[in-house]
Amino acid sequence: MKNKWVYSYHEGDGKNKQLLGGKGANLCEITQIGLNVPPGFVISTDACLSYLAQPEHQLPEGVMAQTREQMATLESATGKRFGSATDPLLVSVRSGSAMSMPGMMDTILNLGLNSQTLLGLIAHTRNERFGYDSYRRFIQLFGKVALGVPDELFDEQFEAVKKNVGAESDVGLQANDLKDISERFLAVVRHHTGKPFPEDPYEQLEIAIKAVFGSWSGKRAVDYRREFHITPEMANGTAVNVVTMVFGNMGNDCATGVGFTRNPATGENMLYGEYLTNAQGEDVVAGIRTPKPLQEMARKMPALYTQLLDLRNKLERHYCEIQDFEFTIEKGVLYCLQTRNGKMNASAMVRTSVEMAHEGLISEEEALLRVNPQHLEQMLYPRLDPAFKGTPLATGLPASPGAASGQVVFDADRAEQLGKQGIKVILVREETKPEDIHGFFAAQGILTSRGGKTSHAAVVARGMGKPCVAGAEGIHVDVQLRKAFVGNTIIKEGDVITLDGTRGSIYLGAVPKVESDFSDELVTLLGWADKAARLKVMANADTPNDAARALKYGAMGIGLCRTERMFNAAERLPIVIDMIVADTPEQRQAALDRLLPIQRADFKEVFKTMSPRPVTVRLLDPPIHEFLPSEQQLVDELQQLQHLRLSVQGMEVLVETAKLLAGSSGEPLPSSVHELGDTRLVDSVITRKEQILKKVRALREVNPMLGHRGVRLGITFPEIYTMQIRAVLEAAADCTKAGIPVSPEIMVPQVCTVEELKHVKKLVQSVHQQVEATFGVKVHYQFGSMMEVVRACMRADSLAEEAQFFSFGTNDLTQATFSFSREDAENKFLPMYNERSILQDNPFEVLDLKGVGRLMGLAVGWGRSTHPKLKVGICGEHGGHPASIQFCDSIGLDYVSCSGPRVPIARLAAAHAQILLGKEKANADKTA
Ligand code: PEP
Ligand code: MG
Repeated sequence: MKNKWVYSYHEGDGKNKQLLGGKGANLCEITQIGLNVPPGFVISTDACLSYLAQPEHQLPEGVMAQTREQMATLESATGKRFGSATDPLLVSVRSGSAMSMPGMMDTILNLGLNSQTLLGLIAHTRNERFGYDSYRRFIQLFGKVALGVPDELFDEQFEAVKKNVGAESDVGLQANDLKDISERFLAVVRHHTGKPFPEDPYEQLEIAIKAVFGSWSGKRAVDYRREFHITPEMANGTAVNVVTMVFGNMGNDCATGVGFTRNPATGENMLYGEYLTNAQGEDVVAGIRTPKPLQEMARKMPALYTQLLDLRNKLERHYCEIQDFEFTIEKGVLYCLQTRNGKMNASAMVRTSVEMAHEGLISEEEALLRVNPQHLEQMLYPRLDPAFKGTPLATGLPASPGAASGQVVFDADRAEQLGKQGIKVILVREETKPEDIHGFFAAQGILTSRGGKTSHAAVVARGMGKPCVAGAEGIHVDVQLRKAFVGNTIIKEGDVITLDGTRGSIYLGAVPKVESDFSDELVTLLGWADKAARLKVMANADTPNDAARALKYGAMGIGLCRTERMFNAAERLPIVIDMIVADTPEQRQAALDRLLPIQRADFKEVFKTMSPRPVTVRLLDPPIHEFLPSEQQLVDELQQLQHLRLSVQGMEVLVETAKLLAGSSGEPLPSSVHELGDTRLVDSVITRKEQILKKVRALREVNPMLGHRGVRLGITFPEIYTMQIRAVLEAAADCTKAGIPVSPEIMVPQVCTVEELKHVKKLVQSVHQQVEATFGVKVHYQFGSMMEVVRACMRADSLAEEAQFFSFGTNDLTQATFSFSREDAENKFLPMYNERSILQDNPFEVLDLKGVGRLMGLAVGWGRSTHPKLKVGICGEHGGHPASIQFCDSIGLDYVSCSGPRVPIARLAAAHAQILLGKEKANADKTA
């Protein structure tokens, strides 16, 4: 059987986009449901691949013969003839692959025109101006697209004629001018290609088909596919559509336009779009004349507007999806030239999903699947106005999404000072430390020149939902000078900058922004998501404020409260430092006694806010030296203090001299002068700093992240964990007494052996007994283990004997499984690994299913073999990443926990996971 390469719109399978391309398949489909589509046909992507596979690029045998057969059908459908000198059939030639690739190849219009058929067109339409207008457009498009003549050569001639006749725009050109232009264009082609413009319509058609096929392997298309990760499975080759020309430029009863079945910017359920009377399609797109809103057509062409509304309704009802369509009106007849799914921003997607489901056009499940969870990010954070096109001054890592502008400040105190005056500030530092926390509260956003996506700045900003650009290495921050340098640009304190934490860009000045948009429709959609999902979505939240915010995002509990963050507030840090530098257990206990009520009050607030939902409190995790300044900072400060001490001693000499002189004159010295020479204050500061420096040196570790941290700290300093456990249980007891139901969970970090877990469990049990006795109430709690060490995963069966729940800390587990330190990996070699496909993704952002994921799957199985009801969740950053969430669902996790603002994304992703699983099962049942 001979190959079938060509399909008329009446016979092509509208579902087969791989073979017919998106445009071709849709045109087949809407032809077959009875919409008024100009007669046409599509040459398949198979023909394209076959053409490209031949070394000489030959059209496969049969393509032109089948094309001619289809042209004959078009001739009989329209009553016109291709190449006729009296009433010629003209066609457009368009590309179209399975994936939309805008701008990959332009459309050629009016194909079939030559010196003879032009006369026929003019005679038939009795419109010379129209004839030459169509001709000059064809020569230019065919010249550019099919013959590779640069557009500028045509534009030069066009402008020259316009100038000669003093025309402002193309509408001001007369038939003669357009004839002049056509002749000049023919000369341009002859001159550039060395050959006359092809006169034979079938030769034109063949050249055009080959040009469209060839464009698939052109640089533009190849780059586009690489950029947007379009694989051959998604789209392989382009089809060619050959469609009868209909003319929107034959007079004032003609028009052309583009429409969206709903407003793509807002989702509003109304026809949206633009049109031009007496124009061809490209005029609308090219912006030569300003098109009018479609609503104006309701007044100017009411009957046609009604037809257009009818077209819109039919398209939406058929596709159950917002359509972006092109139409032309030729002498009062409406044609649909193309339709495809409309692209919309996230707000419009959400609104249309909910409204279409309410209208019964789609089901709730379909409404959920229409929205890409990741796109919700647009609605949850302020972002730069999409119309803004400026160039960033510098870039760094997109460490916490959102956009913010403000005056630059270089230290946290200044940030706080200005923040209190209501001034918007951006905190700019080389890197941040826990003692900068008050600056975070005051700032709109944080910029650092060092550190990665898990640096202090990044993690704290994410938790607070503030934008952060981290590790912007092109910026040199000089805190002493209060300046930052980017190449030749100097940013001074007070200068306004804008951060785009979603992209990692920094701009000078205030860039316009679009606010976040947690709409009613989003609330409805997420409600449906919660019904469809199996996984619960918790939030990582460390303070009562974070908890309240997470609740607004729909968190079903707190999956990770990192208690060390509670130590960071400016007034608490000195007590924590006292606890660390304490020389005796008594001194340490005294500091812990001061911390206990503070922690207890925080937990109480968090429990109350989340009541009755579970709150997982993780005991102290980081190495304690993290709460102390760095050794270098202390050495520098001590040096300055020694200088200060010398100066103060100098003041003493001065005071003594002044006293002598005053004594001789009889004048008493003011009392404040005496204090100038008092070194006691400096001495006490020096002593304290020296004490801290000694501790910093004592605590120094070669590899702190693998060192004295987590449960290891809890075992060597049991009084610290005891205080924390007491704070949790007493807060729970207080709440219970007050009639507030609470579900506290105590979680132990960095566990690698069951003995560690047993050790801490004993502490918990003993404190629990004391608390119940003291408060006289039953306190319910759960006890669990983080799973962030490879050995813990391997020993999951035995850990499950002691733990009621597991929570995968995939940040550390990824580091441990790869033996990569995240910051070094992301700053040094990961980008190159990704570029060269050594690793497909950044495993710190996208869960590595083959390694880390596999380990998790095994651990879940082993854990539940001991403890079938073991609750298992994830609280690493992957807990907020849609593909990772799908995996977590598939291995039977009970919950995911992520930063508050990502909760809506996770809720939708959790719903997708279940719906897709259901579909997979249904398919498997069908094929079984
Ligand atoms: C983790 O390791 O995944 C985790 C949640 O803990 P942290 O990020 O605090 O180390
Ligand atoms: Mg961890």
